[in-house]
Formats: sequence, C-alpha cells, structure tokens
Amino acid sequence: MSFMLTCPNCGDRHQSEFSFRGEYSKRPKQDDGFPSWVDYVYMKENVSGKQYEWWYHGSGCQRWFLAERDTTNNTDQTTFCFDDRQEFMNKESNADA
Ligand SMILES: [Zn+2]
Repeated sequence: MSFMLTCPNCGDRHQSEFSFRGEYSKRPKQDDGFPSWVDYVYMKENVSGKQYEWWYHGSGCQRWFLAERDTTNNTDQTTFCFDDRQEFMNKESNADA
C-alpha cells in the first residue's frame, strides 16, 4: 500500500522515503517496575483506526516525528515533531493523573 506522508520539516513526500518506527507509547519512569518496561518495549496495541506512530524521514531530512494516522485508510494524518505539539503534551500529562 502506498500513500503520501507529510514530514513536518520537508512537507508532502511519498511514503517510501520514510521508515515506520512503531507505535508511540508513553515511556515509563526510570524507577517503574520491570513489567512496565516489558510492556513498553514489547507490547503493542496494533490499533485498527487512529493511533500515534513514530516515523523517520531517512531519505530526506533524517528527522524523527510523530504521526497520528488512521491505519485503516492511511489518509487521516497529522504529523508533528514531538516538542512542537502542546496539545499532545497536554494529553500525555493528563494520562498521568
Ligand atoms: Zn523531512
């Protein structure tokens, strides 16, 4: 399946320029227990629908960024650098509560 992806730095590019680097999941705190780290490293949700993912623009600017992508159709995408998205950061903060 082929689709276009928007690099936050370079703009719209063919998906073949990028590498999918996995689902985003919140990193455990350093002193969290071993089971939390096992879940973080190995357990993936494999969502059918929208999810946050890490992508790498290897054939372009070589930046890592996040994409919110609908895995069922590859069309509803929002991409952003991790530090640039206040809304995303707020969502992460609320997950701790
Ligand atoms: Zn790029």
